[in-house]
Amino acid sequence: MSLVGEYDGNNIFAKILRGEMPCVKIFEDDNVLAFMDIFPQSQGHCLVIPKNTTARNLLEFPADRLGPYFAAAQKLAKAVVKALDCDGVIVTQFNGAPAGQTVYHLHVHIIPRYTNLPLQPHHGGKPADTTVLREQAARIAAAL
Ligand code: AMP
Repeated sequence: MSLVGEYDGNNIFAKILRGEMPCVKIFEDDNVLAFMDIFPQSQGHCLVIPKNTTARNLLEFPADRLGPYFAAAQKLAKAVVKALDCDGVIVTQFNGAPAGQTVYHLHVHIIPRYTNLPLQPHHGGKPADTTVLREQAARIAAAL
């Protein structure tokens, strides 16, 4: 069952954390890594993931680490709003496949919303242009 199970050390985010797979990084510290989502649901969609954990989802994450983790998510959301001048921002995460989860290393989505612009589907579309993602990441990083 996707909600309960063993952590797979070869999941894509674990590989990104180990430097085995590339990502378009926004920032990192001892606790988290923030990077651009390669299948963005809107311009500027990014992710923040905790380091040094085998939590597959929020339910498995130690409560005493939630503060620093969500502080980082808030910091990233503020920087996204400042950098991209969006009209709203979704901060969300999914637990288990029926809830929409596809990567089983805890992550929070930061998804900017722009008035009158529809969201792209979750898990849909084509990968974004890396040059565009790098430019967005640089703007977000500068607004941190
Ligand atoms: P979820 O469906 O909530 O598990 O979210 C996983 C997210 O990771 C999706 O929004 C994917 O577009 C995104 N994603 C998958 N692979 C990568 C990757 N290599 N780099 C950046 N984002 C990714």
